[in-house]
Amino acid sequence: MATDDLIIGIDLGTTNSLAGVMTPAGPVVVRDAAGSALIPSVIAFTPDGAVTVGAAAKAHAVENPLATVYSVKRLMGKGVQDLAEDLRVLPYAVVGSRQVALAEGQLDEIQRDLVWVRVNGRLMTPQELSAVILKEVKARAEAALGRAVTQAVITVPAYFDDAQRQATRDAGRIAGLEVKRIVNEPTAAVLAYGLDQRQDATVAVYDLGGGTFDLSVLKIAGGVCQVLSTHGDTHLGGDDLDRELMDLIAGEVRSRYGEHLEFTPATRQALRLFAEAAKIRISDHPTATVEVDLGEGRVFSRTIAREEFEALSAKWIDRTLEHCRLALGDAGKTPAQIDRVVMVGGCTRIPYVRRRVGELFGPAKVYTAVNPDEVVALGAAVQAGILMGLKRDLLLLDVTPLSLGIETLGGAMGKLILRNTTVPCQASEVFTTYVDGQTSVDIHVLQGERELAADCRSLGRFQLRGIPPMPAGGPRIRVGFLIDANGILNVSAREERSGREASVQITPSHGLTRQEVDAMVKESLAKARPDMVAHQLIDLRNEAGRILRAVEKALINVPQALSSEQRLLLDGAVAMLKTRLQQDDPDQIYAAMNLVNDAAMPLTQAQMDQVMKQTVVGKKLEDL
Ligand code: ADP
Ligand code: MG
Repeated sequence: MATDDLIIGIDLGTTNSLAGVMTPAGPVVVRDAAGSALIPSVIAFTPDGAVTVGAAAKAHAVENPLATVYSVKRLMGKGVQDLAEDLRVLPYAVVGSRQVALAEGQLDEIQRDLVWVRVNGRLMTPQELSAVILKEVKARAEAALGRAVTQAVITVPAYFDDAQRQATRDAGRIAGLEVKRIVNEPTAAVLAYGLDQRQDATVAVYDLGGGTFDLSVLKIAGGVCQVLSTHGDTHLGGDDLDRELMDLIAGEVRSRYGEHLEFTPATRQALRLFAEAAKIRISDHPTATVEVDLGEGRVFSRTIAREEFEALSAKWIDRTLEHCRLALGDAGKTPAQIDRVVMVGGCTRIPYVRRRVGELFGPAKVYTAVNPDEVVALGAAVQAGILMGLKRDLLLLDVTPLSLGIETLGGAMGKLILRNTTVPCQASEVFTTYVDGQTSVDIHVLQGERELAADCRSLGRFQLRGIPPMPAGGPRIRVGFLIDANGILNVSAREERSGREASVQITPSHGLTRQEVDAMVKESLAKARPDMVAHQLIDLRNEAGRILRAVEKALINVPQALSSEQRLLLDGAVAMLKTRLQQDDPDQIYAAMNLVNDAAMPLTQAQMDQVMKQTVVGKKLEDL
């Protein structure tokens, strides 16, 4: 492919922007050297004329409020009169072109009252500012890909009007990008999941970002995606949740240190960042602690529990659901008529959001497998790939191309769904713990044909926590795999005695080409024999470990059961087994295991007698 043919996909977001690119293995997002893909859509201008973009600009917003520009997307293609609500909250100077023209005595030339931003005395259009962000995205893509990038697909919200779309095109042009297509964000999300290639369906895209929310209803028919309706609120998003947390903490600080306590701008900004960090932490931890240094030795610390955060979020999430109902109404659909709900935007990582959306549409329909803050950029990359004429032979098949399972004790691959199973399908198996009092288990989801977890492809991990302490082997952990018709894998784990559960959603074939799958299958056939031995060894070691622990316990419980001769025999067998466990010969381990079992027989017998006695004694006591 010549350099000129490359097209990247760009999600130009209100809060974060990023690029994606199509590769032979599917779309991937562009990451910097540190591995991060998101570029905060923030631009900082220093008095000496230097410009910084992204995380650095965001971090310094507080020192530099008049010269730090964020949320430019809100200004795109707008007139001043459209922006009353935004102008109140944006700290930098936004002026109307009419105002400027008036001052310069050239009113006649100005048709529409367009928006300008004034920073350090310099006037810039929103297009120019967006171009600064796009240039940064472009530069990062060029650095990552090691080649020039001159063409892009850029996404915009479904509700953007012509002026806003045109402004986005202009921004691309100013940044040195030929904009090959403007794509709706919800459509991009659908492309990222490959839903357009599947059966006809009605899909809702729920997008909760930093400062905006929208729900779009899309009809997919014959591979074509059509937006039926869209509804939302351009002032509802993660920022509101951050503010709830800030207000909570500020209120408590005041009631502790005096109602008149003034927060310095630096403290405010710190508080905002802490609040956001706490919100993000609560998405996968039960609590988060915020510590604010108020100076003069006053440090205020507050732990927020997930339940408390959910209570604070409820009214905002209620509002998003109101918009969902309105959008559904406009599209003439009921929640039951929606086949899938694609979750988009950083805030859809919040479990409470997923739960509430699941309650409205049905939990099984809610798609979260693709990172919600990357899904739009990935979809833009897919669209770019289509425009480049790349074939999309990604695996979205009606059968599972590779086996799916989880890592079991000792690093073996426990398969739950075998390759070539027709989808949709499901399977479940019960596992247990191996350590007394174990309260959490790691579930590592794998794909592949090999017998060892290390040789399979890791699809994801999650933890089931809060299992009540029980002896090893006590908990019943049912792990369920469910693959729906779109190839989305849902893995859940549920401890049946306590009802604790956790789950994860994955697109198992994401990024795998037909060739890669074939190679994986071929390799498994070639390695079948050593793999089988390796798996057998793991099983034997697990079993040997169980026997050794049981012997140890029994020696404590019934120490008198063995004669000194018998004890000698047992100690010898145990020592032999331990030595053989260090080696890799299954037959030798098996033989030693049998020796231990035989030598421990009197011990086992004595222990059983004791259990019987206890039961009898127990009965008698009960009878009394
Ligand atoms: P936009 O589309 O508006 O540019 P994003 O989709 O990147 O924005 O979403 C940004 C928002 O998502 C921010 O409010 C951020 O705090 C929030 N966010 C990111 N990750 C998480 C998380 N793990 N839990 C909760 N909120 C998150
Ligand atoms: Mg977005």
